[in-house]
Amino acid sequence: MAKFDETPILKDPAVNGILKPPDLREDASAGVKCWPSKPKDTVQIDLPPERVPDWQARGVAKLGELLEKNKALRVFMDICVRCGACADKCQFYLGTGDPHNMPVARAELLRAVYRRYFTPGGRWFPQANNAADFDEEMLALWYTYFYQCSECRRCSVFCPYGIDTAEITTAAREIMCAIGVSTKYVTEVVAKVYEHGNNLGIPPAAWKDNCEFLEDDLLEQTGAPIKFPVDDQGADVLLVPPSADNFANTDTMIGYAKLFHVLGVRWTTSTYCNEGGNFGLFLNYANLKKVNKRIVDAARMLGVKTIIWGECGHAWKAGILTPTLNGPMDMFDPPYPYHICQYVADMLRRGAFDGKIDKSANDQYLVTYHDPCNPARAGQLLEEPREVVRASCNRFIEMPADTIREKTFCCGAGGGLLTDEVMPIRMAGGKPRAMAVKHVKANYLATPCAICKAQLPEVMKYWDVPAEVGGVVQLLGNALKL
Ligand code: SF4
Ligand code: SF4
Repeated sequence: MAKFDETPILKDPAVNGILKPPDLREDASAGVKCWPSKPKDTVQIDLPPERVPDWQARGVAKLGELLEKNKALRVFMDICVRCGACADKCQFYLGTGDPHNMPVARAELLRAVYRRYFTPGGRWFPQANNAADFDEEMLALWYTYFYQCSECRRCSVFCPYGIDTAEITTAAREIMCAIGVSTKYVTEVVAKVYEHGNNLGIPPAAWKDNCEFLEDDLLEQTGAPIKFPVDDQGADVLLVPPSADNFANTDTMIGYAKLFHVLGVRWTTSTYCNEGGNFGLFLNYANLKKVNKRIVDAARMLGVKTIIWGECGHAWKAGILTPTLNGPMDMFDPPYPYHICQYVADMLRRGAFDGKIDKSANDQYLVTYHDPCNPARAGQLLEEPREVVRASCNRFIEMPADTIREKTFCCGAGGGLLTDEVMPIRMAGGKPRAMAVKHVKANYLATPCAICKAQLPEVMKYWDVPAEVGGVVQLLGNALKL
């Protein structure tokens, strides 16, 4: 097989013609009114309903507050030597060719404002020090390019100083939230969590109905009484899947139910919080903490012994922050936080699935594995999903080394980009991943992330790669003997 750096990414103009996303660029030039939040949502999640009148002063003050609280952010402002090592590592730059999408250029949008207000040189000689006012034009650039960063952290892997551009994006979004500038999609999702307990806005009755429907369906298909319990007081395990698993990625939801059935474990979901995803992560700290608290509260209310996070990438990043955000988890059985792939890998190692897996059930697939950004770079979840995949199928192939594990590419829709309003950016950002799948000719792309599962089928279609996208536990579910 050819080495990956000989394959088409960036080197074959016929395959990789630079895709400009004109729609979004034109919108961006109109300022910060591209996809504004609705006041009904922002009020519900404690953000200003519109841009505050003294937004410049408030924004600069918020930056000062963040620099005080987050020492790493201040270091990231000062130590970049502009070596360029990160420049071509961002999928949004690779896909769009837009120089503002180079991580160093993206971060420079915040650094220029930092220098203007927080360094002596920038205060007195702004032009000589590459400092810039926090003005209307700068805010438009922030809104456009800090929402074209999926906070994936790929660039940080290649930075010799370990500068984390995702932290810089997070800070810029926090500042924008404070002055009443946010996006409709992200704020809508967080508001739905407070109203219904999940990102999709599914009411409890509909959640229960769907669980019953899946039970009936599986009984008919398999003859096995596989349960999808809801609000089961005293269950051993509270599963917090991404809510999309119960409505869109139902094969993954079926995989969870089958594996608990085979292991004889009493599990449940909660109608107070049937969502592992946490869009607060893409918005601001206060909402990150509040959304996360719902999971712990739901577990306490149901009196479960442990919480297991389902297949959702950013949910896992927020999940591992649980003790930091909302206090110790020692009322639960360790290990905590616990991911479904860790759990299944532990069970495999203990022999709990011995004799219960028929890998040939997946023989129609040549499987490859896409590391979602947050599990790979923020959650140390590299081996366990691969263990589950290998245990579930006979034919597995890794994508090229510089596109997997810590060097994985974002699917192109993380960080709050999974909306039709930014489709050109999404397709451009997904291109490197699509090319890597094409390279190994896999026909099943396994990934433990609901956002990847929503985005990558579109990406595969757009870039003409004939691969099915599905869950890790879904593969196991296919192979389990009931
Ligand atoms: S790799 Fe690091 S030091 Fe070099 S330009 Fe990028 S952020 Fe700056
Ligand atoms: S964090 Fe990811 S999306 Fe953001 S600049 Fe770095 S590589 Fe690009």
